[in-house]
Amino acid sequence: MTSKPTSDYHTSPIDYTFDSQHIWHPYSSMQQSQAVTGVVAADGCELILDDGRRLVDGTSSWWACVHGYNHPSIVAAMQTQLHTLSHVMFGGITHPPAIELSKRLVAMTSESLTKVFLADSGSIAVEVALKMALQYWQGKQQPQKQRVLTVKNGYHGDTFAAMSVCDPEGGMHTMFGDAVTQQLFAPAPQSQFGQDFEPSDLDEISQLMAEQHPHIAAVIIEPILQGAGGMRFYHPEYLRGLRKLCDKYNVLLILDEIATGFGRTGKLFAYQYAGIEADILCLGKALTGGYISLAATLCSDDVALGVSQSPSGVFMHGPTFMGNPLACAAACASLDLLQQGHWPQQVSQIEAQLKQELADAIDYSQVADVRVLGAIGVIEMRHTVDTPRLQQLFAEQGVWIRPFGKLIYIMPPYVISASQLSQLTQAMKQVAKHISDTSGLGIDQDQRHEEPKFISHG
Ligand code: PLP
Repeated sequence: MTSKPTSDYHTSPIDYTFDSQHIWHPYSSMQQSQAVTGVVAADGCELILDDGRRLVDGTSSWWACVHGYNHPSIVAAMQTQLHTLSHVMFGGITHPPAIELSKRLVAMTSESLTKVFLADSGSIAVEVALKMALQYWQGKQQPQKQRVLTVKNGYHGDTFAAMSVCDPEGGMHTMFGDAVTQQLFAPAPQSQFGQDFEPSDLDEISQLMAEQHPHIAAVIIEPILQGAGGMRFYHPEYLRGLRKLCDKYNVLLILDEIATGFGRTGKLFAYQYAGIEADILCLGKALTGGYISLAATLCSDDVALGVSQSPSGVFMHGPTFMGNPLACAAACASLDLLQQGHWPQQVSQIEAQLKQELADAIDYSQVADVRVLGAIGVIEMRHTVDTPRLQQLFAEQGVWIRPFGKLIYIMPPYVISASQLSQLTQAMKQVAKHISDTSGLGIDQDQRHEEPKFISHG
């Protein structure tokens, strides 16, 4: 084997040809590659491109990079950890960063959540949660409880069990047929956040629970924000009702806070809007401030006990990079920053500015809805947009925004300045206006009347 150069890639031009011929990107084709943007560095709220341009980042790198890039305290914590212990197996071994992080997670989440499983990504945290629920019921001598109930428009990741609880039509169910486990789906919550609650919203899910509970192990749901399934903000009363149903019918409640956790919706965790507790909680994305992959699944004493009473007596999961010390150190540093307490004000300022600056987009003919919650701003168009084309238009305006489906949305870092945020909102409105003024010419003609092919944040 010839040795490959490893030192000059930082300074050499980006090899776009190799990239398009050999490297998969998320939700991409190796036959018809889409243009990718070369990023060589990032700082604060800006991505720095190979041609020297700087783009204000409206995505926080898929909702994770809440403190901005190259933050000195996260970088320093990771550097120290790198020189001390970058990785060691977690089987039969423990280490200070994992203990410190787990202590903090136990302390900052609801009181009943006392046990922590450190997973390597959001999807794996969901797999772990589902597996815990199934093993729990084995331990409780009810092994027939194997189905999972969820709502439509959900998104929980791309691995197989996670896919099984994603939206049945918008998700990847049809693509993989019987290989994806058949789960139970209730309609998506309809009562919107900040509006009146319609109690009949819970009718169908109540009925499903009443009929199927002997077979239902758990309900899984994204609290308050259905993210990749449509950026829908729903009423906290729905969650309260769901908690009551789970208690009534002896079903575990799994809350997937992977997208919403750590302040994004204006509360540290979105479930706090409803004042409820989960039996199992999934965290990810902003856990490390978006610096490195790490997720966590927390559960109650009761769930942990049930799992240990299952025939295996142990929880059957243990990835190679479980509890990676470098990732735990990044997470501790990110939580330190959150604990400094600036985020609530930052998020509420972002929310106020988004509400003010996005409101008039509703006047454009192709805009169906404008909505804001916490540090999330959404312009929903009437038709599916052409993501690559819009991405290019946004880059020309000095911003990084990646729409999906009908949604032009942003989830900026909490540390974004007012002027950077205005740059993002102006660009969103200009693009929405352009699509409206050109009667859809901003949209791929073939896609104009189609729904998104499948739900992902891609
Ligand atoms: N759950 C939710 C609510 C998500 O939004 C995502 C990703 O967007 C996931 C799970 C999957 O996380 P990951 O992409 O880290 O596997």
